[in-house]
Amino acid sequence: MGWYGSNKESKIFQTMPKIELHRHLEGSLRMDTLLDVARNHGLTIPVEPTFRKMVQVQSNDPLTFENFLSKFQTLRLFYKSPDVIRKVARDAIQDAALDHIQYLELRFTPVALSRVEGFDLRSVMEWVTESVALASQEFNVKTNLIVSVNRHEPIELAEQVLSLALDFRTRGIVGVDLAGNEVQFSALPFWSLFHNVQKEGLKISIHAGEWSGSENVRQAIEEMDADRIGHGVRVMEDESVVRLAVKRQIPFEVCVTSNYQSGVVSSLRGHPILRMIDSGLFVTINTDDPSISQITLGDEFHLLYNEFQQPLERFYKLSMASINAAFLNEDEKSNLREHFRLAYQEWNKTVING
Ligand SMILES: [Zn+2]
Repeated sequence: MGWYGSNKESKIFQTMPKIELHRHLEGSLRMDTLLDVARNHGLTIPVEPTFRKMVQVQSNDPLTFENFLSKFQTLRLFYKSPDVIRKVARDAIQDAALDHIQYLELRFTPVALSRVEGFDLRSVMEWVTESVALASQEFNVKTNLIVSVNRHEPIELAEQVLSLALDFRTRGIVGVDLAGNEVQFSALPFWSLFHNVQKEGLKISIHAGEWSGSENVRQAIEEMDADRIGHGVRVMEDESVVRLAVKRQIPFEVCVTSNYQSGVVSSLRGHPILRMIDSGLFVTINTDDPSISQITLGDEFHLLYNEFQQPLERFYKLSMASINAAFLNEDEKSNLREHFRLAYQEWNKTVING
């Protein structure tokens, strides 16, 4: 199963130690868990393969934003109880462990998790942070959390969520993220909210240059003071924005398969990932929504190896770039580099030379 299938070569990339910086909890829901929730909570769902098609991108789907986003609409109906929210958070960490991710920054959207059942936002924050802390210990994946708000939703809602993000700083929240419809909604009304949490020590990631063009990347860097850009691939449409991003060395959280499945690029091979790297942009490789896309981070690495002819040595460097871009302090980064180096050495010994 999966978007790319699996073979002996893909297993090499699955077992390779990796770092993930851009993964949405709401796009990481397991099929089995969804089926259990449907059974336990009396949700009527269509039989296979129709249900799978409602929640995961299929090869015969139209590869458009509308189609990609429609999967989230169905998934939102499944956040039925505190236990379900705790379970999906735990699953996401366990799946990261199975993907040999050594450090994960998992982002979640409290409003999306709370809306259908009317849960209180603070309770949702508690359920997610508690479950992630426990699972991170249990599965031995160092994890931090990023709280997402959508630009197409009311600013008052973002204000509540960002204030909670500050309250939960000591419980694994390291950053805030602006996501949502960047074609019709500007990031600028959110500036003072984001600026305030940044002053308090949280980092900022902004989805930009994905649905809309390079101007949004420029705005995220120059006007929103973003610490990282979510996607940002359309930066390549304007040489002056590329130069700005290179000069500032702002990290890009690139998600190749997601961009293909949502129609940002019309073919996989047409994805600008290599041109981005060659331009001197600070590139990291991520999944975005592994369950919706039916991929792992191992698959994304394998894709770069296979389709984009990247040498095996490239991946260690890419992971080190992700560590440099992580929302960690210098001591934490230095510990993570050492931990990663040892994990990679062990993998090299057992998988490559074993
Ligand atoms: Zn995203």
